[in-house]
Amino acid sequence: MARLLIIGCGGVAQVAISKCCQNSDVFEEIMIASRTVSKCEAMKEKLQDKTKTVIKTAQIDADDVEALTKLIKDYAPDAVLNVALPYQDLTIMDACLAAGVDYIDTANYEPEDTDDPKWRAIYEKRCKELGFSAYFDYSWQWAYEDKFKNAGLTALLGTGFDPGVTSVFAAYAKKHYFDEIHTIDILDCNGGDHGYPFATNFNPEINLREVSAPGSYMENGKWIEIPAMSIKREYDFDGVGVKDMYLLHHEEIEALGRNMPEVKRIRFFMTFGQSYLTHMNCLENVGMLSTTPINFNGQEIVPIQFLKALLPDPASLGPRTVGKTNIGCIFTGIKDGKERSIYIYNVCDHQECYKEVGSQAISYTTGVPAMIGAMMVVTGQWKNPGVFTTDEFDPDPYMEALNKWGLPWQVVENPVLVD
Ligand code: NDP
Repeated sequence: MARLLIIGCGGVAQVAISKCCQNSDVFEEIMIASRTVSKCEAMKEKLQDKTKTVIKTAQIDADDVEALTKLIKDYAPDAVLNVALPYQDLTIMDACLAAGVDYIDTANYEPEDTDDPKWRAIYEKRCKELGFSAYFDYSWQWAYEDKFKNAGLTALLGTGFDPGVTSVFAAYAKKHYFDEIHTIDILDCNGGDHGYPFATNFNPEINLREVSAPGSYMENGKWIEIPAMSIKREYDFDGVGVKDMYLLHHEEIEALGRNMPEVKRIRFFMTFGQSYLTHMNCLENVGMLSTTPINFNGQEIVPIQFLKALLPDPASLGPRTVGKTNIGCIFTGIKDGKERSIYIYNVCDHQECYKEVGSQAISYTTGVPAMIGAMMVVTGQWKNPGVFTTDEFDPDPYMEALNKWGLPWQVVENPVLVD
């Protein structure tokens, strides 16, 4: 029925590709195009005898808009799924516009070079005006609204788990459980153990930039920023047990804050073990998380990129990670004049994911919603001209697809709330 161009072939992409190949009724043909074409060819080799989906591969540098536009025009897909890095969001959106094709991604734009003076001037203005200082924000991609609208194309932003599924949970809660939502707490718990002293579960550079940034949350439409990891809570997660979790800045707060202005407070918490935090603090203190290039023996090195080269590849963690994730949202509000609170969440087992697609649960919980988001767009169930996040469409077909494609969810009334 549809043809999808998938850009990137890392940890998340490999799950999205596997799930598209399980869903051959929708994805009759896919092309895997990435910087290192041997990874694309290895995925094709692994899957082609087990699927009806016809798989093609290509080498592409997605920073090169002209080359990418040509690739899109030549392959003529129904949509492009960007599971490369957030650095490529804008160039891939530009190429989709030039080629007249819908766009889907899992993470909002941030620049690779945070010292670029042009970007920095806009960033510093935004920090002052909005009040949060993370490198990533939606303004860059929301600025494409008119371009996509005028071209009659859909851009679906952030269809991973968080952001992605968590925002669909919010739309679902609003549609079926509440007349008014007052608070949203998004909880991301990874109870998995990979046995390494320190490793990240998705791209280390993006992950460490995210978790070392100051935390922030939204209250009554305003951002409140706090020092990194300075708000800590303990929570007992179904399937995992008691974990420490820390308040972080996260991109769905921005989208939900804009699209559901009636919600009084939106926060995001992620669990971290003490060993992870100790390593991260140490790396930060010695300058290894810096995005500013340094000169080393006549060669320019970006410290965080050098660190990425030293750390285990997240795509290799699958066989050794055991335990479960529990990711979801606690909503409080009013239904039929009475106070109500619910927790909507998914529990995912690292080893089950590995048995099914050869990946750990963080790649799995992102790659499955990436496939589902692409399916929503190419089947026309979520198709509107413009730029959208996942809370802006009918949540029901997406929620149904989560149950069908490996991320079953549940709703619990009166959960323990986070103070
Ligand atoms: P990886 O680093 O494992 O994979 C990135 C892939 O993109 C690699 O195959 C890489 O190629 C390719 N790539 C990088 N730059 C380019 C380029 N210029 N042109 C073409 N291909 C390129 O990352 P992950 O799979 O861990 O993460 C993928 C995305 O998923 C990220 O945007 C991340 O932020 C997002 N994510 C979203 C989550 C959510 O819940 N919403 C959760 C986790 C991740 P090469 O093989 O040559 O390095």
